[in-house]
Amino acid sequence: MTSAVELRHLIGGEWVGDPEVERRNPFDDSPVATVASGDADTVADAVAAATAAQPGWAGKPWPTRGAILLDAAEILRSRHRPVAEDLVREEGKTLAEAMGEVRRAIDVLRFFGSMGWQATGDVLPSATPETMVYTRREPLGVVGLITPWNFPIAIPAWKMAPALVSGNTVVIKPADLTPLSVHNLVTALTDAGLPAGVLNIVNGKGSVVGEALCAHPDVAAVSFTGSTAVGEHIRSVVQSRRGRVQLEMGGKNALVVMDDADPAVAARVAAAGGFGLTGQACTATSRVLAMPGVHDEFVAALGKIAAGITPGDGLAEGTAMGPVVSDAQLATDLKALDRARADGTLTGGDGDGRLLRPAVVTGLTADHPIVTDEVFGPLIAVLPTEGLDGAIESVNSSVYGLAAGICTTSLASAQHFAARVQAGVVKVNRPTTGLDLNVPFGGVKASSTNTFREQGASALEFYTWSKSVYLGHDL
Ligand code: NAD
Repeated sequence: MTSAVELRHLIGGEWVGDPEVERRNPFDDSPVATVASGDADTVADAVAAATAAQPGWAGKPWPTRGAILLDAAEILRSRHRPVAEDLVREEGKTLAEAMGEVRRAIDVLRFFGSMGWQATGDVLPSATPETMVYTRREPLGVVGLITPWNFPIAIPAWKMAPALVSGNTVVIKPADLTPLSVHNLVTALTDAGLPAGVLNIVNGKGSVVGEALCAHPDVAAVSFTGSTAVGEHIRSVVQSRRGRVQLEMGGKNALVVMDDADPAVAARVAAAGGFGLTGQACTATSRVLAMPGVHDEFVAALGKIAAGITPGDGLAEGTAMGPVVSDAQLATDLKALDRARADGTLTGGDGDGRLLRPAVVTGLTADHPIVTDEVFGPLIAVLPTEGLDGAIESVNSSVYGLAAGICTTSLASAQHFAARVQAGVVKVNRPTTGLDLNVPFGGVKASSTNTFREQGASALEFYTWSKSVYLGHDL
């Protein structure tokens, strides 16, 4: 057992605050960290530090800012395994999943570091002779980042990196369950030479620290990933003071299995999307619409995969699934499983505390809460469906629109589906989870503000504004 680390806020280059809140490993309750908990004054101090640092940071050339991100990527790479182990200890996912997530954070820093050399503007024709018109991407100023626990290092990285390379300074409020991963990411950046005040951390409760960050008049923009309920509240707070806001929120992601698909392959696609990361992914497959010709074989194959997964210590060799992250999330999962048992036919879902076996439920109606509401646990509901258009209608009946998938060997079905489905990400014969970092990501409907996309080059749009310059000489 390792001892708990002490985590403080980072404000203007100083580590401040008394660590007081305990964080424990969801697998065995061993201590992981003791964390300082901020309030509105701590947020005000962090925003003041970020405001003071912003002109100097924005005054550095893009390649200079990018170089610090590239150096931070190398530092994080040199700490890859211990940072991944910390992530397992605080969040519970398996070491393989955590190594992949830290790898993602490294690659995100590299990608946006190299954007320091590649960020572009437009050169446009002018109606006035001998006048050049070009656009510049200007930073917004101080941005607030509010992040969830389920990807505790990758999501902060994919918000922080585009914000920093484009000249903003940052105040981040990590998820209260997972402050250690953000600490590890931020120390890679400060060790790489990021100037004091450019990146600040305030730990603590969402209802206190997050709320104060959203309400602060000097925070030009807030990028949030988390639940739809909290996101919608944040939208109203930030927009009421005319701040810019980006929300990536919940999902109820469907996978359609066509008659022409191999049910065994489709079951592997569904299991990877629905049971990976203990079902705690925003893009997790949580409902499957299966055509009559494959339905029974698919359900049997998926049930067999679920039965073969034994949850355990994410740090132990060969563990296929880590524990549920917290008792609060476990209570949500158990409530959903009880309803599934009462109203449908459930296989799996038994457990020992937070070690919950994955589950498959059939026999529910399309309007059942387990089919319509996000659970965020390893539970997949399978419903029969008829005809591709009927399946698309069912997919689109959700209030959410994050990810959707189809298993088919027909190119026509795949294209028909991709063109009509209301989801920000469409996967054909691939799990609904799993994203490339160079590809725009975001949802539609209740999953997103659906304005600015995250990841890829398009991520820079949220963190910048466009200025048009007319460059002439004598008239
Ligand atoms: P959450 O909404 O409970 O918390 C997210 C963050 O918001 C945390 O840092 C929390 O402290 C903070 N917060 C809470 N109340 C706040 C308030 N009043 N003001 C400001 N900040 C506040 O979400 P969670 O439980 O950490 O994460 C799970 C949710 O995140 C799921 O709904 C999942 O679908 C969603 N998610 C979405 C994406 C995506 O990209 N769409 C990715 C990952 C997770």
